Amino acid sequence: MNSDELGSKEKSKESIGKVASECPITSADESGLDAGKSINSLLDKADEAYQRAEDTFEEYLDTLSPAKRVEHSMKCVAADGYIALSGYQENKPAPFVNVNGEQSLDFLQKHTKQSPDENAVKEYKVRGHYSDKGVKGKHFATHSEKQLLMLHHMDGDHRPIGVTRDQCGDCREAFQSFAYHNDVTVVVRDPNFYRIYQPSGMVEVYDLDRKLVHKTSVDKNGMVEPPSASTVAAHYTGRPW
Ligand SMILES: [Zn+2]
Repeated sequence: MNSDELGSKEKSKESIGKVASECPITSADESGLDAGKSINSLLDKADEAYQRAEDTFEEYLDTLSPAKRVEHSMKCVAADGYIALSGYQENKPAPFVNVNGEQSLDFLQKHTKQSPDENAVKEYKVRGHYSDKGVKGKHFATHSEKQLLMLHHMDGDHRPIGVTRDQCGDCREAFQSFAYHNDVTVVVRDPNFYRIYQPSGMVEVYDLDRKLVHKTSVDKNGMVEPPSASTVAAHYTGRPW
């Protein structure tokens, strides 16, 4: 699969590539200037990605009829590097990539498997939904930031992601598990929070003022706290973790 098949890639923003690897995350508990600068640099990139996702979504909605606009306004767009639109729709128009739910589901399952010596974070558990269309987990796998996670991993470049709706519980679980099982740092900004998913399984949540509002705890068995909003859609909005 190459970028031509998947959709257009933003050439003008190549410079933000490799952000995660160039800006190692230091715990916010270590209040050194360098740590703060690294995190701020990542969050700046996440803001750029978020703005690009928002702008692209607005431009897309403007191309639709009033009825379609209402329907599609429930969708979600994620950036950066590629631009992804949530949902099953085949042959999505440019600039959206064409990753289908089965591809991202397969990718997630392969990349979040538990190995015997890993125990801090569970593997991603596929969650069914009434609109799965015959493949359990397909609905949640069509979420736009999961499409980008797959493409960024294929590129070896986990640049920060901006997404136009609150990350759902399933995506939070998936990203936490993915960062842990693949030893990568992934940063996601949604309308309310920034989340830094770390290779240790820890997740730091910052509000839009960049104040640390949550850091996942570890229980007595060494298990990292999973997200709280894992099942009920209405509870996703505004919940830090
Ligand atoms: Zn989601």
